[in-house]
Amino acid sequence: MDLTTEQVLAWIQRIAELIRQNRDYLTQLDAAIGDADHGANMDRGFQVTVQKLGNEPPNDVGAIFRTVGMALLSSVGGAAGPLYGTFFLELGKQLAGRTAVSAQEWATALRTAVAAVAARGQAQVGDKTMIDALAPAVEELERALAEGVSLAVAMQRAAAAAEEGMRATIPLQAQRGRASYLGERSVGHQDPGATSSALLLTAAAEILATE
Ligand code: ADP
Ligand code: MG
Repeated sequence: MDLTTEQVLAWIQRIAELIRQNRDYLTQLDAAIGDADHGANMDRGFQVTVQKLGNEPPNDVGAIFRTVGMALLSSVGGAAGPLYGTFFLELGKQLAGRTAVSAQEWATALRTAVAAVAARGQAQVGDKTMIDALAPAVEELERALAEGVSLAVAMQRAAAAAEEGMRATIPLQAQRGRASYLGERSVGHQDPGATSSALLLTAAAEILATE
């Protein structure tokens, strides 16, 4: 089964809803090891994004992702804005002009987008960032597809891996971003960016599960 423009639009819409529902939670997490703006940053960004997509819905998957990336770049402050902007712009580049995307193409595009975020943030797994949720999700997605399961099931497994990666940030000491200024005091707290990334994956799994 291919990923369609309708599903991608539904995914972005669902991300906006989940971020809205978890805005205070994300802010609380960021209050502990940052500056308490991650929830507000992400909520503003995805509200702007949904509005932009509603006004002028692009008609291919790549153009949708490019619009999302530009909207996030222009509306989300802090470290997360450029990083999530990079993520969606790279998806847009990988999937330019496409109206349907196979599971394998989707996994490859996602892997490339996560690599672009890691390069931009100079972060790797274990640094206590969004990469700790995104990277295991891509690995699990590819593993699941290689086993021959459907894209819906594979995304379910990817979302579970993202959540596991998110929880695994708790005992880590932050090596990147604002939380790294805290040194050892960042230990014992879940990373806000890994949490919002897990929400992105959960939203994708939910959209595919409703098919
Ligand atoms: P800021 O830290 O500027 O206030 P946010 O609060 O919106 O920005 O986002 C913080 C999140 O961004 C962190 O929890 C972390 O997951 C992510 N992050 C910060 N710096 C990096 C980086 N260099 N690479 C990857 N992710 C990062
Ligand atoms: Mg912050």
